[in-house]
Amino acid sequence: MATNVLVLGPQGSGKGTQAKRISAAYGVPHVSTGDMFRAAIADGTELGRQVQPILASGELVPDELTVALIRERLSQPDAEEGFVLDGFPRNLVQAEELDVMLEEIGRPLDCVLFFDLDDETATRRLLGRAADENRPDDAPEVIARRLAIYHEQTEPVVERYREAGVLFALRAGGSVDDVFAEIESALVA
Ligand code: AMP
Repeated sequence: MATNVLVLGPQGSGKGTQAKRISAAYGVPHVSTGDMFRAAIADGTELGRQVQPILASGELVPDELTVALIRERLSQPDAEEGFVLDGFPRNLVQAEELDVMLEEIGRPLDCVLFFDLDDETATRRLLGRAADENRPDDAPEVIARRLAIYHEQTEPVVERYREAGVLFALRAGGSVDDVFAEIESALVA
C-alpha cells in the first residue's frame, strides 16, 4: 500500500484538509511546511521571527531553510512508516532536493495527488477561509500573489511528476467526501 504520499495543488484546493484525512486514515504523519512555519511563529522561535514577514507577504521562504526543516522532519521516527507531505516541494529546486533525501532513506514517492482547481474557485475558497481563520496571508492581494507564485514556480513541479508517471489528478472541486473517495482509489492502485 502506498504510504509515501505528496499532495500538490494551489492554495484553497482542499489539499490540507485531505492531507489531514489521509494522515488519520492511514496512520502516517501530516507534514506541512506551512503549518510548521506557523507553529514556529506562534512559538516565537528564531525560525519564526525569520519567516514571519515572508509568510505575511505571500512570498516563499528561502529553499535552504525549508529544505533543512523537511530533512529534519522526515528523519523523525514517526515518518519511518510513511508520510503525507503538504506544501513541499514548492519549486523545482525543492523537488530535486526531495528526490535526493528520499533516495538517501531508500523510500521513493508512491503517489503524488494533484488537486486541480481554477484560480477563481481557489480565490473564493481562500476568502471564505480568511473570514473563518483570520490568516494574515488570506488578504486579497496576498492571495493573488500566492497564486501567481504557484503558477510560476509550483506548476513546473506538477509537470515534473506528471512526466515521471506518479501524478494522480483529482477533481478538487468536488465535496470533501467525493475527493477523499478518489484519493482512496488512487492509494490502493
Ligand atoms: P501554506 O500553508 O502551505 O500555504 O504555506 C504558507 C506560507 O508558508 C507560504 O505562503 C510560504 O510563505 C511558506 N511556505 C510553506 N511551504 C513552503 C515551501 N515549501 N517553500 C517556501 N515557502 C513555503
